Amino acid sequence: MQSVESYREEIIAAITPLPPEDLAIAGADGAVLAEDVRAAWPLPGFDNSAMDGYAVIAADVATASPDHPVRLPVEAEVAAGDTTACSLAAGRCIKIMTGARLPDGADAVVPVEWTDGGNEIVAVTQPASKGHAIRLAGDDARPGDLLLMAGTRLGAAQIGVLAAAGHGTVRARRRPRVTVISTGNELAEPGSPLVPGLIWDSNSYMLAAAARQAGCEVTRYPTQRDEPEAVLAAIEHAAATADLLITSGGVSMGGEHDVVKAALTKLGTVTFRKVAMQPGMPQGFGLLGARSTPIFTLPGNPVSAFVSFRVFVEPAVRVLQNIQGQRAVPRRARLTGPTTSPEGRQSFLRGILDSEAGAVTPLTGQSSHQIASLARANALIIVPEAVTEFPAGEVVDVLELP
Ligand code: AMP
Ligand code: MG
Repeated sequence: MQSVESYREEIIAAITPLPPEDLAIAGADGAVLAEDVRAAWPLPGFDNSAMDGYAVIAADVATASPDHPVRLPVEAEVAAGDTTACSLAAGRCIKIMTGARLPDGADAVVPVEWTDGGNEIVAVTQPASKGHAIRLAGDDARPGDLLLMAGTRLGAAQIGVLAAAGHGTVRARRRPRVTVISTGNELAEPGSPLVPGLIWDSNSYMLAAAARQAGCEVTRYPTQRDEPEAVLAAIEHAAATADLLITSGGVSMGGEHDVVKAALTKLGTVTFRKVAMQPGMPQGFGLLGARSTPIFTLPGNPVSAFVSFRVFVEPAVRVLQNIQGQRAVPRRARLTGPTTSPEGRQSFLRGILDSEAGAVTPLTGQSSHQIASLARANALIIVPEAVTEFPAGEVVDVLELP
């Protein structure tokens, strides 16, 4: 049996990052920057007012007080979006709105709250010091400043700064397109009635959700019956457009109903093996078709499929977007109860992590079909291959679930 680490390394080495593209910023959230983004212009681009009020020369209002207001003639009014330059002479003021360009000569803005709000003559009741309520050009970023580093995943704030800095497009790797296909004659659509012997398909929905959570754009194919020709056709169809394929089921050891294995073995580019882990031992991985689309054939037991996604597929997704650090780094926590694990297999046990206490409690229901227990867990407890038992109190590696 191959170790989890060696299998994961093999996968990571086999996958090529997506090519960078010029993406319109409107659809670029979730993409990962392929290069640094620097400011080409100052941010803000010009001196402007931070408040609604009056642009003044600070010295002119230095003596203002409620008892002895300074009265200034209002020369003009500038609003956000006015592009004509205007200038201010001593002893006067210009009514100004938030975001409006600061008149030449002005060195402070008196907020409207410190005045009587006059339109022809304004009474200022409080002095504004030099620079008050002024946003200076370049106070956020200067030309040449690094705004975003290559490798950054674009979220709302990052899209915001790209727009603010005037970039309509960005050089990045888009969200990987992932297709999920589940197989099995026993599978029925959730929401439809069931007869004994059938189960509702949980994997395709779960894996689709996991892939979306990992930042992918997901297509879920209809469930495939255990017919190798049809399964192969579906896989090949998906491989023509997807960046990564995930199948569930049909890869167990030796059963004649192992439809995914039967469908793919003759292609020769997907290999099936036993990985020294529990759950998730039967695994298949390879590259398919003209586009060398990576395919993961995950085992059908829901917890096996889930753990396999976390341990193998998610790192592969990160490679597709060229994100450094492919592997989720475990944290350490103290076991509140004992655990057991088969010899020679790395176990991923479902647990509840209390981050504050640094403690993790193994759940009951550790079989690979027990998805109810998985849904209660917020962490996977890792028991190394060589270890068969951990006593309560042992400090162990734990993978937090997103
Ligand atoms: P297989 O890997 O196809 O041999 O399936 C192993 C176990 O997982 C069997 O008990 C299947 O019924 C179950 N299983 C397979 N596919 C799914 C699925 N999509 N949703 C829930 N359980 C599944
Ligand atoms: Mg099956």
